[in-house]
Amino acid sequence: MGEPGPVSSPEISEADGETVVDISGLTKRFGATVAVNDVDLKVRRGELLVLIGLSGAGKSTLLRCLNGLVTPTGGHVEILGVDPAQLGKRDLRQLRQRVGFIFQQFGLVGRLTALGNVLAGSVGRIWGPRYDISSYSQEMRRSALEQLDRVGLGDKLYQRADTLSGGQQQRVAIARTLFQHPEIVLADEPVASLDPESSEQVMEILFKVCREDNLTVMCSLHQVDLALGWADRMVGLRAGGLVLDSPAHSLSNEEAMKVYSAEDRARLRAEERHDRSRSEIGR
Ligand code: ADP
Repeated sequence: MGEPGPVSSPEISEADGETVVDISGLTKRFGATVAVNDVDLKVRRGELLVLIGLSGAGKSTLLRCLNGLVTPTGGHVEILGVDPAQLGKRDLRQLRQRVGFIFQQFGLVGRLTALGNVLAGSVGRIWGPRYDISSYSQEMRRSALEQLDRVGLGDKLYQRADTLSGGQQQRVAIARTLFQHPEIVLADEPVASLDPESSEQVMEILFKVCREDNLTVMCSLHQVDLALGWADRMVGLRAGGLVLDSPAHSLSNEEAMKVYSAEDRARLRAEERHDRSRSEIGR
């Protein structure tokens, strides 16, 4: 093999909050594929944890096990004191208000405005969806506006979502999640379809809200440099197994890259160089 072993640190995190996610022996199989393999992980309130690993390493499956989108085949998940796999529909809906999920593809309604999309985040809290913004209470509108301001889109409230750039759409999606006042935000490759500059903006916003609201953020990324720039803690997965768990500040790019095989490292470095030169040309 000759591949480097796990990189780890006994001092897992500097966040001193309570444990809000407690995963033990988590395993998820899809037929013969082991997507997540016997993972143990504890995450504390206020931590910004970035999951890195190649495509197919199990990052998305792990995040999905945390909000009940995927049911584990083995092990145990406790999030905010409950096991999502044990919850009925109603309790799961309640849990998902406390645990926001941000997808790579934003998941906005294109024909609704930015504000309309954020307000639509209240569906589940209010009775049925509403299409007319004025039918939401003034307090809800004010709160939605506040969240759009926080993500730097206070001047785009009434712009249709499908006319916003990818980065702006992802920021609307973040505002929609924040509008629920979650305690945990799970973000599955939130910048995968964005240019480097928008990616930095999105990570900066996640970092800011993590600090301001004492939110726990668990975010999967495939760009190691970006992850090291914003994470408190880096967790690496390879073939479903946990191979790295370290505070970000004590981790070099070289150490973090050990999550990948030598061949994949060379490919990823070439991709990063390509991304950088593309964004420089775009300036
Ligand atoms: P990542 O997020 O790191 O790219 P995923 O969690 O999406 O990894 O996938 C891990 C493995 O599980 C991959 O081999 C993938 O093909 C497989 N997998 C994920 N979801 C499903 C599914 N719904 N059905 C079958 N296989 C799946």
